[in-house]
Amino acid sequence: MYFRSGNNQKKEKSIIKKISLPFSALLIFMTTITYWNSKNYGLALEYGGQEIATLSDEKVYEKAENLLRSQIAPEEKVELDKFKTCLKLTPASEKQCCKQPEVIKEKIIEKSYEVLSPGWSLYVDDKAIAVGKSKEEINRALEEILEKNKSSFGSLNCTAEFENKIEIKKGLFSTEKIQPYETIKKILNSKVKKTFLYTVQEEDTIVSIAEKFNMEPSKLLSFNNRTKEDSVNCGEKLKVLKDDNLLCIKLIQTQLEKNLIPFETIEEEDPMLEKGKKITLQEGIPGEETIFYQVEYKNGEEISRKEINREVTLNPICKEIKLGTKLQKYAWPVPYTKNITSPFGPRIGGYHYGIDIALNGINGKEIIASKSGVIEKVSLGNTGYGNHVIINHEDGTQTLYAHCKEVNVKTGQTVNQGEKIALVGTTGQSTGPHLHFEVRVNGIRKDPSKFFKQ
Ligand SMILES: [Zn+2]
Repeated sequence: MYFRSGNNQKKEKSIIKKISLPFSALLIFMTTITYWNSKNYGLALEYGGQEIATLSDEKVYEKAENLLRSQIAPEEKVELDKFKTCLKLTPASEKQCCKQPEVIKEKIIEKSYEVLSPGWSLYVDDKAIAVGKSKEEINRALEEILEKNKSSFGSLNCTAEFENKIEIKKGLFSTEKIQPYETIKKILNSKVKKTFLYTVQEEDTIVSIAEKFNMEPSKLLSFNNRTKEDSVNCGEKLKVLKDDNLLCIKLIQTQLEKNLIPFETIEEEDPMLEKGKKITLQEGIPGEETIFYQVEYKNGEEISRKEINREVTLNPICKEIKLGTKLQKYAWPVPYTKNITSPFGPRIGGYHYGIDIALNGINGKEIIASKSGVIEKVSLGNTGYGNHVIINHEDGTQTLYAHCKEVNVKTGQTVNQGEKIALVGTTGQSTGPHLHFEVRVNGIRKDPSKFFKQ
């Protein structure tokens, strides 16, 4: 239901007066007639010269007109004097006279189609935007916009709705104001100026900001209750007008994402396996999961995304490996002989910090790495240990091979257990071809013969 207010009412009143004035005269005339025969007269309501109803009295017409006025959409400015109504005294029995204003109102509407038509007004955020001939037509145009938005997202798993307050109200409108479907659609898809907050950047001026938003500088100032003398500072916020869609569409879509789940690695120590060795029992296989997100868009722009569910479609398979912990034994460094000519310990003239291995024909025989490791030092010379090699082993120990005839490795080189590193000789402080062999634990020389037993 619509209500008239302000100027329009004033205007209408004057229009009604125009129609009503002759009634006063008519009333006097009627009263006179009634005096003669009170039961045989009524008022004939004519529209465009055609009689459309017989009324019992003038009040019925007034009420009908008030009803009509109340139905006219507030944004409409229909001039009631466009109605070609006219009341005439006519002979009529009481039965023939209509006393229902509602019926009279409908008859006037029916006859005044070229002036006034029933229609539906679309309000967006309390503002009248368009007028259609039916509610269904407006709804269809709105629905089409939502569908178009949804289809731009593939129409899958999504819902769309307007953020705006949408109302469709029935009313009477000037017939020429009723808009065709295509026009309504065009209006709904149009852009409007909306207020936004702009954060002032460095080097911005009122003029440059106004230019950026296609506004008059004076308008920008008044819009923000400012004068030319006021300065703008970097970081403060100003209200600006920017083109935006008339309708704001909120679209919520459920989206899914496939994700790989990394596998874990389980390490198991194996005392039967040599230290440093690794055996893969099971290769790791990553799993798969599907993550469901609820994504919200406003006019096509993503504004939020939250995870709503996670489904594991394939469990990962752990990688299983065996790690050797068994320490490598010390190999005898001269395959040629196991003959010890001088053991570890005190001896005449001092203390022997290694073992001497010698036998006839040992000169030039192979010396092998007692354990795998990295060559720490190769020293060549004819004093002390003579040509000698020191190897660092993984367990933190070192082995030393002295008095070599020649050395076949270089510092930094990795050697495996049993690999040839040098030849037996008698360089340095030596009385004949032999290998002086030492084992050092944390720099302290220990009895090598004990290490071969491990
Ligand atoms: Zn020695």
